[in-house]
Amino acid sequence: MASYEDEDHTQDYLFKIVLIGDSAVGKSNLLARFARDEFYSNSKSTIGVEFQTQKMDIDGKEVKAQIWDTAGQERFRAVTSAYYRGAVGALVVYDISRRQTFDSIGRWLNELHTHSDMNVVTILVGNKTDLQDAREVGTDEGKALAEAHSLFFMETSALDSSNVKAAFETVVKEIYTILSRKVM
Ligand code: GDP
Ligand code: MG
Repeated sequence: MASYEDEDHTQDYLFKIVLIGDSAVGKSNLLARFARDEFYSNSKSTIGVEFQTQKMDIDGKEVKAQIWDTAGQERFRAVTSAYYRGAVGALVVYDISRRQTFDSIGRWLNELHTHSDMNVVTILVGNKTDLQDAREVGTDEGKALAEAHSLFFMETSALDSSNVKAAFETVVKEIYTILSRKVM
């Protein structure tokens, strides 16, 4: 869904990016932290928000990321194909303190590739690094899985903000780079 909006002078890009991963890994809070610099200690953040459009400056160009949140659909294993449609980027999230959420990553990648373009720019995100004492998934394991699937990789904390901006920016920058190569 990359599109030109202003034919006169500036190129205005709009990228659809989806958040996926098991329930309660912190998807809604990653988005809340990135878009509004907010954090919710309960799951209130999940309710209602369908997507959030965030302006970003990439190489002096204004880029808009339209970031979609599952809004709790994943609880019922019912993320619709409409959710994925037109996505050019994805953050596939697990919780470093719950191995089960890491074990689900393969299933989420399958679902992503079933419903969207194979070339969707994807980052594997291990969230909740602030919970070091409860860690069940090593950084090296995350890194290895990402390498095996040719994904970007980052560990984040929506709670203490670490790497949140960087994770979203990594995806948007890569999409922008690929697109500008195609246009030129
Ligand atoms: P979602 O179901 O994937 O959207 O997950 P939520 O964003 O609703 O978060 C689920 C729970 O995990 C909530 O209680 C959040 O407060 C908590 N949470 C989210 N991100 C973090 C984080 O980085 N660190 C910690 N400690 N808790 C988090
Ligand atoms: Mg949510």
